[in-house]
Amino acid sequence: MNFKDYIRDIPDFPKPGIIFKDITPLLATPKVFKEVIDTMADKVKDSDFDTIIVPEARGFLFGSALAYKLGKKLVPVRKPGKLPYDIVEVSYSLEYGETRIQMHKDALSKGEKVLIVDDVLATGGTIKAIETLVKKLDAEVSGILCLIELSFLNPREKLSNIKVDSILIY
Ligand code: IMP
Repeated sequence: MNFKDYIRDIPDFPKPGIIFKDITPLLATPKVFKEVIDTMADKVKDSDFDTIIVPEARGFLFGSALAYKLGKKLVPVRKPGKLPYDIVEVSYSLEYGETRIQMHKDALSKGEKVLIVDDVLATGGTIKAIETLVKKLDAEVSGILCLIELSFLNPREKLSNIKVDSILIY
């Protein structure tokens, strides 16, 4: 089964010049989604981590299925104004402008080892920002797992100190 057959390119979304990787065909095909989650689980089966941390929104889809399968704790990272309790936050730059992401301040304990899971690793900016959030709580990123890596954007340059696994490389 070729997972790439279930990911479609949408040109000029969300803005001109961007080719968006749309994973909804994969989600809509149960045997493929199951195989993807099993493959992701297999990639990290020997990794040492306590917790899976996932950015809104598509990270939730893969990270929660993996947390269920592996029996791991799950922590969401969200856009401003979504989390109800006290938060820690970090600002980071996008292609145009700045954004912020937040996590509950009691989400991680000192020394806790986390795996960051997302659908697409593009510039690496989002995951770098999550690493900063994790460090704010004195926890530790033990790895990164993404379904899709856009290698032409060189995300690993930003993440050179962390183990990165991806299932599909473009
Ligand atoms: P980065 O911060 O540039 O690495 O972008 C990664 C974030 O943007 C992830 O949370 C992705 O969900 C989202 N993203 C970037 N490009 C795409 C894409 O082509 N398809 C789906 N999501 C994308």
